[in-house]
Amino acid sequence: MTPAPAPDDSRTERTAAPRDLVGVGIGPLNLSLAALAHPLTEVDAVFYEQRPAFDWHPGLLIEDATLQVPFLADLVTLADPASPWTFLNYLKSRERLFPFYFAERFHIRRAEYDAYCRWVCENLPGLRFAHQVDAVRWNPERDVFEVDHTQLDADGEAEALGRTYTRNVVLGIGSEPHVPDPLRPLVDLPGVPVVHAADYLHHRETFLAAGHVTVIGAGQSGAEIFLDLLKARPAGRERLHWLGRTEAFAPMEYSKLGLEHFTPDYTRYFHALAEPVRDALVSAQWQLHKGIDAATLAAIHDELYRRTLHGGWPDAVLTPGVRVRTAGRIAATKVELHLEHVQQGTRTRLTTDAVVLATGYRERPLDRILAGLDPYLRRDSRGRPRVDDDFRLVLDPSVTGAVYVQNAGLHSHGVGTPDLGLAAWRGATILNALTGKEPYPLPDRTAFTTFGLEQPQPRIPAGRCPKALTPLADGI
Ligand SMILES: Cc1cc2nc3c(=O)[nH]c(=O)nc-3n(C[C@H](O)[C@H](O)[C@H](O)COP(=O)(O)OP(=O)(O)OC[C@H]3O[C@@H](n4cnc5c(N)ncnc54)[C@H](O)[C@@H]3O)c2cc1C
Repeated sequence: MTPAPAPDDSRTERTAAPRDLVGVGIGPLNLSLAALAHPLTEVDAVFYEQRPAFDWHPGLLIEDATLQVPFLADLVTLADPASPWTFLNYLKSRERLFPFYFAERFHIRRAEYDAYCRWVCENLPGLRFAHQVDAVRWNPERDVFEVDHTQLDADGEAEALGRTYTRNVVLGIGSEPHVPDPLRPLVDLPGVPVVHAADYLHHRETFLAAGHVTVIGAGQSGAEIFLDLLKARPAGRERLHWLGRTEAFAPMEYSKLGLEHFTPDYTRYFHALAEPVRDALVSAQWQLHKGIDAATLAAIHDELYRRTLHGGWPDAVLTPGVRVRTAGRIAATKVELHLEHVQQGTRTRLTTDAVVLATGYRERPLDRILAGLDPYLRRDSRGRPRVDDDFRLVLDPSVTGAVYVQNAGLHSHGVGTPDLGLAAWRGATILNALTGKEPYPLPDRTAFTTFGLEQPQPRIPAGRCPKALTPLADGI
C-alpha cells in the first residue's frame, strides 16, 4: 500500500516560526533523509529542489544500465527496513513483487531506481520542486538560518521570491559535470556536437548519425556510451574512438572485502585520519569508484567479438593512456584533438565529427550558496569546509544551528561520500544528531575488516550503556 501523504502544513514560508530543518536539493541523498524524517513528528522539515520534478541523471538512463549497488541500497532500508518508503514497498504498491521475486535481480535498472524515487516524491510531503535556493545566512539576532529561494515557472524563469527560517539546514546539492581545461574550448562550439556524458541521451540520434565519434573518458559513463554507440552503429563501419587517460580500461573494485570501503566503519576510520593522508588516499583509491563495472567491460568485449564472426575487425579504436593536450574546431563541422600517449611519449592528431566528454563530475561547490556564512565557516589547510563526523559543517561556536552536508565530503569522509549504499545510514546519522535522540539506532560494527590498529571509539548515543573497548595487544 502506498503510504498516505500526511497533510502538508498550510503556513506560508514567511511565517516567523522557524522550521527544524530545511533541505537544499532533492537528489537521492536528501530524498533518503526526507523519507527517514517523515515519521519523526518532532522534525518539521521542508526540502527545496530547483528542478520541476525528480529526475535522476536523465541523460544517462541508458537502456539496461543498472545500479552498481544492490536494491537494498534504496532510500531507507539500510537504516530502517520497516519504513514504508522501501523499494520493496514501491514494488508492492505497483503489484510487481512476484515478478521481481522471479526476476532474481539484485542490481535493478537505473530507470527503475529513478521510477522508485519518483514514487517516493509523489507521496512524501514536504518536498517543494521548482524552488532554487539562492543563499543561506545566519541571523544572530534570532538564532536561526535564513534560506532565500526563488520559485521558478515552467520555463525555469523566476516567478516569486521567498525566505524560510530554520534552525538547521542540510545541503544535498550533489555534483555537476566536469570538463578538463584542455577540452573546454570544445564546449559550445557551433556546428559540432560536443556533449558531456550527462546529456548524452538528449543527443543520441545526432551521435548515431555522425560520421566519426570519439568518446573521451575511461570511467563507467564512457564505457556505457561507447557500448551503446557500438551496438547501434553498422558492423564494419562503426567509426568509433574510445580514449581514456588511465593506463587501462580498468575494472571497478568489486571484491567483497574491497566493498567494505563503502561501510560506516571505513567512513569513520577515514574521517579520523590526518588531512594529508586523506588527500593522498582519495586519489590513490580511484579504482574503488572510478573504474568500470566488470559486466560492462564484458559486454563491450562480447559485442566487439560478435562483430568479428564473419571476418574482419570492427572499425573501433580503444586506447587507454591517452591525454588530450588541446582541442579545437577545424573546417566548419569537425573537431581536431591533439593527443599524447602518456607512456610512449608519442603525439598525434585525430579528426572527428562528434565528441562525448565522459570526463566525470565534481562536487557542486558550496561556496556560492554559503557565501553569507563565510565568516562562520571553519576550513582545513586547503580552504575546504571542515565537516565533523555527524556530517555537520564546523562553524563558529556562536552559531547555535547546524548545517549538514551530503555528498560534499570526499576530502573528509572518503570514497563512500557519493555512494547510494551509505545514503540511509548517513541520513539516519544526521537525524540522530539533529534530534539529540536516537530515532534510528545504528550498528557499531559494519565491516569484517578492522581498519587501523586503533579504532575510533564508537559514539555512545544517549540512553545506551557504554561498551568496553578491548585494546589490541602489542606486537601484532
Ligand atoms: C550516471 C550516474 C550513475 C550513478 N550510479 C550510481 C550507482 O549505481 N550507485 C551509487 O552508489 N552511486 C551512483 N552514482 C553516484 C551518486 O550516487 C549519484 O550521483 C547521486 O545522484 C548523488 O545524489 P545527490 O543527492 O548527492 O545528488 P544529485 O542527484 O546530483 O542531486 C542534487 C540535486 O540538488 C539540486 N540542486 C543543486 N543546487 C540547488 C539549489 N541551489 N537549489 C535547489 N536545488 C539545487 C540539483 O538540481 C539536483 O537535483 C551515479 C552517478 C551518475 C552520474
